[in-house]
Parts: sequence; structure tokens; C-alpha cells
Amino acid sequence: MTEKFDIIIVGAGIMGVASAYYLQKNNPDKTILLVDSQPDAGQANTAMSAAAVRNMFASTTNQLLTDTTIDFFRHIQENLRFNLALHFCGYLWLLSDYQFKDPSVQNWMQRMETNDISYRVIERPELQKSLPGLVAEFPDDEEASLMNLNPVDYALFGSECGVLDPSLLVQFYKEEFLKLSKIKPRFNLTVNKLLLEATPSLGLPGEPLAWQDKQVTGIQSSEGTFHADRVVLAVGPWTNALLDPVGIPSYVKAKKRQLFIVAASDHPQLEELLFTPKFSDAGFIPFTILPSGGVYFRGVPEEKSFWVGCGDKVGRAYKYNMESDDYNAERAYYEQSMYPVLIKYFPAFANIRPTNMWAGAYAYSVDAIPLVYEHSGVIVVTGASGSGIMKADAIARIADALYRDEKDAQLFGGRTIPSRSLGLTHRKVEIESVII
Ligand SMILES: Cc1cc2nc3c(=O)[nH]c(=O)nc-3n(C[C@H](O)[C@H](O)[C@H](O)COP(=O)(O)OP(=O)(O)OC[C@H]3O[C@@H](n4cnc5c(N)ncnc54)[C@H](O)[C@@H]3O)c2cc1C
Repeated sequence: MTEKFDIIIVGAGIMGVASAYYLQKNNPDKTILLVDSQPDAGQANTAMSAAAVRNMFASTTNQLLTDTTIDFFRHIQENLRFNLALHFCGYLWLLSDYQFKDPSVQNWMQRMETNDISYRVIERPELQKSLPGLVAEFPDDEEASLMNLNPVDYALFGSECGVLDPSLLVQFYKEEFLKLSKIKPRFNLTVNKLLLEATPSLGLPGEPLAWQDKQVTGIQSSEGTFHADRVVLAVGPWTNALLDPVGIPSYVKAKKRQLFIVAASDHPQLEELLFTPKFSDAGFIPFTILPSGGVYFRGVPEEKSFWVGCGDKVGRAYKYNMESDDYNAERAYYEQSMYPVLIKYFPAFANIRPTNMWAGAYAYSVDAIPLVYEHSGVIVVTGASGSGIMKADAIARIADALYRDEKDAQLFGGRTIPSRSLGLTHRKVEIESVII
């Protein structure tokens, strides 16, 4: 006999655990089984994340998803007294004059103003005082000109942005879910297939037949078959692997992303940069995006280190699903592509090799806005496009609203969003242009 649940959630990354929490909280009588192929929650792309949070997006939708999610994270830490290692160190976008005046940046700023997203423009002289060792222009530097390096003339600084520890965030949602749930999650369980069955079944050979109604009714897994009235699929860049075989559309693709850890201890200039006190009460450097090459970094004050990444766009392959080699960070990529850019702007990084590195993948949607929709008995939660931590709370609330067939999802702080607006049929979003 197979086990039967009201809901099975496949994937216990941040999307899966946050969804599990809201589904259980708002549907207390329902039995919810949370499963993941990893030994515990949040060990795949969620763990690989830079875990920076920002509400500085260009689309109204992403602004709403992130602004309310960040407010909830602040609430967790300040009112519920659960430490997320959340620091409001800010986000700092370094831009050349040319970039700053580009219509897309002007529109981005305009939309932030319209929607009360707080940010300010900082000019080069102030930046040079606040960022020790910043090189803002490269006169007579042939190498810099060969590398297409933009000068730094301006920065956009967002003070309601910051960084956190993704494992603590996962722990918060998982613990809250476990307090409410009667069903123990199952880890080390790989879902091989979604079960698609005729509803009702007539016991005919070859079911489900084309003319029959069909629903996903459960999962086939390494631990056997489990049935459920509803399956929530929160498997990030593996979405296609489970939806394709049953013919449910998804419109996401994966792209590898990696982080390189550079220790600041024993390097006084780098330490000075890390602990620059000028931007916020957090007392360390904002999440900083360089104006060239897609290179960015965040400070990790607890470890006295920087995590350096790159939003490499053209040239980095899209994958249909995340593949095993997407887990391998490439030291040569750091040395050849990122390091030369980094040390031009911040020479304090010169001659320091990364002490650690890791890689994961983004799940990109077509418009860089998450996808949350119901199709044939599955609620699909995917397409966070590299910013799933910072949108997780809002997305999980939308998944729960869809389950309860609510017209609007209630987000933290009282704002709402139509629960079908991130779906396939009634999708109502702008294209996001500010992705890293
Ligand atoms: C280098 C890097 C930097 C990033 N930086 C940021 C950042 O600064 N801020 C931010 O907000 N986001 C960032 N992200 C993106 C963020 O990590 C993701 O958007 C988020 O973790 C997605 O969560 P998820 O739950 O959808 O996916 P995942 O965390 O990947 O979870 C999916 C889960 O599904 C499980 N699974 C998959 N297939 C199966 C199966 N067949 N059976 C059972 N289980 C299965 C996996 O084991 C996994 O645990 C970054 C990502 C990377 C890689």
C-alpha cells in the first residue's frame, strides 16, 4: 500500500521550506510531506548563495517581492529574536557616467522613486573617501582600456539591503514548519518521476488516455511511491527534469554561478576595505557591484573575508537542467576573468589567492521574475533568477494562496499581490533588467 498525504513538497531549498511553513500554518489539518534528495534542507543552491538581499530592482513585481520579504527577515531577527546574521550593510552599484545616464538606469531609479524604494546617488569624491583604495579611473592604462574598464563616476546605494546567512534562514522556516507538522520530512529521497494519472481512472490499458482528465497524483521515488492531492514542486534549476516527462511547461533554464572566498585577515588593506564604516551602522562594506565585467563582492565580517562572484552573462552556457559539473568552481575562471578586473578597481585584492570556492546554478525565467503557478495538480515554484533568497517569503505566501485558491496573496506588512500574477496564463509582470 502506498502512503498518501494531502500535499507533497519536492525540494527543501529555501523555496520548499518556506512554502512548507506557510502551507502548514494556513492549512493546519493537512498532512504535508517535505522531501529532498540531499541529507538535509537547504543544501543545494540555497547553500551556494551569496545570500545578499536587496529591494533595488527595476520591476515593480520584484520590488514588492523583495521589499516585503526583507521586512519579514528583519521581523524574524528583531522581533522574533531568531538570528539570521542579517546585516543591513547596503548595496552599492558602481557606475560610470555613461552607465548612470543610460535610459535603463534612469528608468530603474525612476521606478524605485515611484515605489518608495530608498536609495541615494553617491558621487566619485564621496566614494573615494568611503572606499579605501578604490581606483576610480584609469588614465593612460592600456590594459584597462583593452579590458573595457569603465571609470567609477557614481554609485547607487540602497540602505535597506544587506546580507544574511542562508543556512540560518532555512533553519528558521524548517523549525517553524516542524513545530506545526505531524509528518517528518524525508531526506536522501530522490524523486524520479511525477505520477500522472487519469481522474477518474477507468482501469483501461494505457491510461491516462488523451481524452481523459489527468492530474499529478504523487511521486515515484528512491523510497517508493507516495500519493498526494497536490504536489508542490520547488526544485529550482532541476524543474525541467521532473516536469518535462509529464508534459507540463516550465519556461526555466539553468546557469552556473560561482563564488570565491578571499580572506582579509593578515592583509591590512583588505581588512580596512572590509570594515569601512562609512556606509551604514553595520560597520562593513556594502555588497558592491563593479561597473565592468559583472564582478561583485560581499563582505563576511564573521569570517573576515570577501565572497567574490561574477554575473557572467554572454559566454556562460545556459543549461536545460543543472548538471553535476555545475557544482565545480573553476579556479582559472577567477584568475583569468574576475581577478584582473577586481584588482584594477581594488588593488588590495592583488596577490591573494582564494581559500575556498563553490558553485551552483540560477534558475532563470524568461523575464527574470519568479514563476509560481498551478498546472494539473502541481504547484510549481521556480525561476527565482538568482535572487530566490531575497524573494522567498513572498513566493512561499503566493504558493500557499494558490493552494487555498485565494485571489490575492497577503504579503508581510499588509501588502498583497494577485496570486496568479506570477503564473503562466495570467502572468502580469514587467521584464526585470537589474539582475546580477
Ligand atoms: C553562486 C550563487 C550566488 C547566489 N547569490 C544570491 C544572492 O545573493 N541572493 C539571493 O537571493 N539569491 C542568490 N542566489 C540564488 C539563490 O541561491 C536561489 O534563487 C535559491 O536558493 C533558490 O532556492 P530553491 O529552493 O528554488 O532551489 P534549491 O536551493 O536548489 O533547492 C531545490 C532543492 O530541490 C532538491 N531536488 C532537486 N531535484 C530533486 C529530486 N528529483 N528529488 C528530490 N529533491 C530534489 C535539491 O536537492 C534542492 O535541495 C545565488 C545562487 C548562486 C548559485
